[in-house]
Amino acid sequence: MSTDRKNHLLTRLLHDDRAILPTRGTVNPPVHHVSTILFDTLSELEQSASTNLPIGHTSYGIHGSTIQQALAQAITTLENGHDTIVTASGLMAATLALSAVLKSGDHLLMTDSVYGPTRRFCDHYLKNQNIEVTYYDPRIGEQISTLFLDSTKAIFLESPGSYTFELQDVPAIASVARSAGIITLIDNSWATPLYFRPLDHGIDISIHAATKYLSGHSDVMLGSITANSENYDRIHDHAMVFGNHAAPDDCYLVLRGLRTLPQRLNAHQIAGYKIAHWLDSREEVDFVIHPGRADHPDHALWKRDFSGASSLFGFVLKPVEKVKLANMLDNMSLFGMGFSWGGYESLLIPGYLSKIRTAKPWQSSGKIMRIHVGLEHLDDLIADLESGFERMK
Ligand SMILES: *Cc1c(COP(=O)(O)O)cnc(C)c1O
Repeated sequence: MSTDRKNHLLTRLLHDDRAILPTRGTVNPPVHHVSTILFDTLSELEQSASTNLPIGHTSYGIHGSTIQQALAQAITTLENGHDTIVTASGLMAATLALSAVLKSGDHLLMTDSVYGPTRRFCDHYLKNQNIEVTYYDPRIGEQISTLFLDSTKAIFLESPGSYTFELQDVPAIASVARSAGIITLIDNSWATPLYFRPLDHGIDISIHAATKYLSGHSDVMLGSITANSENYDRIHDHAMVFGNHAAPDDCYLVLRGLRTLPQRLNAHQIAGYKIAHWLDSREEVDFVIHPGRADHPDHALWKRDFSGASSLFGFVLKPVEKVKLANMLDNMSLFGMGFSWGGYESLLIPGYLSKIRTAKPWQSSGKIMRIHVGLEHLDDLIADLESGFERMK
């Protein structure tokens, strides 16, 4: 991505979607709360059944309010896609997209490092639908073609993976999939479209937990599915069939969060590197797992494909008794314990992977930890971690 393009995108993020809405002079687009839409004439009512309505001209609330369409437009711009469906949660984005491309008898290749609840959907719902799921080693690269069956319909990627942060050779997988007529989907929540644009690397469908960095303030649940032109219609139709909807106030919050995403993410990135470096120097830490660091096993892929690193990463502690770990975590003053990330606040939790992975079981002698570095002052964060390590002794 050239510098020009980035600057251009930065501006488009602030202006593109606003230009298509009637703001009546206000900087921000209006939030319409809507179920019923009234038509002035019988002719307009009958035309509303048309599927190619311009933005803001829908026939019923389920099609999404104007603010939902504005958010979809903004994410489409960032992802360089054809169009975007906004969903009620990040998990809903993954499950809707998967169920849109798969049918009974199909085979799905799923990365072993996928977000846990997406895995649960595969193991329960998809298997009940007679859809076969094979988990693969996230580092498989183009060798994934050895797992192709005649019935293989889709490959789902997540890079870096949840908790363990393996990077996938996305262009290599996308390329062999494309030659075999297999659809590729990726969970791109970690990088956001600012640091990685999967469709530019041959992926068909990119999914986000907008709940995380895109919203950035830990107060809203939302997801998105951006597809290329070959796949958008089937996902749109599927979302309509299932009655997908995203609440207008939530769409507004994510759109508001998006305006400052480049600046927030950059601050997260800088602080993330600094905390990773500091952790690496601690005797309590066995090793750090940060894709943007040269000591990450897949760093070369990150360097080739990504233009930045967010501030969610892992580290492995040297073996320590659980009571001591609890003594650290129970008494942190800034790092919270919670199953999320991407907000302005810092988080720290252990990972529980022993029962999850099947293709590539996770092995480490000490506990794997997941840290999200927020926007607090760095010195305060380090002091909090330092006294945490003291309590662990
Ligand atoms: C949190 C998360 C999701 C799900 O998003 P929700 O909005 O919480 O449903 C999906 N993928 C990844 C990688 C996540 O971390």
